[in-house]
Amino acid sequence: MRLEDLFLETLKDIFFAERQILKGLPKLAKAAADPKLREAFMHHREETEGQVDRLRQVFEVLGKRAQGKTCEAINGLLEEGEELLELAPQPSPVRDAGLIATAQAIEHYEIARYGALVAWAKALGNDQIARLLQETLEEEKKTNTLLTQMSATINRTALAA
Ligand code: FE
Ligand code: FE
Ligand code: FE
Repeated sequence: MRLEDLFLETLKDIFFAERQILKGLPKLAKAAADPKLREAFMHHREETEGQVDRLRQVFEVLGKRAQGKTCEAINGLLEEGEELLELAPQPSPVRDAGLIATAQAIEHYEIARYGALVAWAKALGNDQIARLLQETLEEEKKTNTLLTQMSATINRTALAA
């Protein structure tokens, strides 16, 4: 297997993952009690649409068909989110704290994948692809930071509840 092949396999993995996330974020938003948290999830859902478009562009640059490959990691993380909603069936600040942790696990997975893809695109000398994926990487990092900031207030509220 060449680095090009590893890159393409991982691109298919994150393409599948982003589309699962696109379906998962409205569920997280619907479950959120805090309106600002709900808004943050919906904003990131919109951003995710752009990220899927960028991935399609990357496939196009490579001359490959945009194709996903089942990512058990993202399926597992989303399943953990469903479990949380079973454990905490009512909206509450504690459930919000759990939703943030779920969302951050997802962002961390994305950051890990895009981090590797950007590094490989650079190693392969494809600056155009590296730039496209770097843009998404920055969005994922920003989202993660925002969630950390929001958790400060929500965790305090959860403790007092
Ligand atoms: Fe994403
Ligand atoms: Fe994966
Ligand atoms: Fe994300």
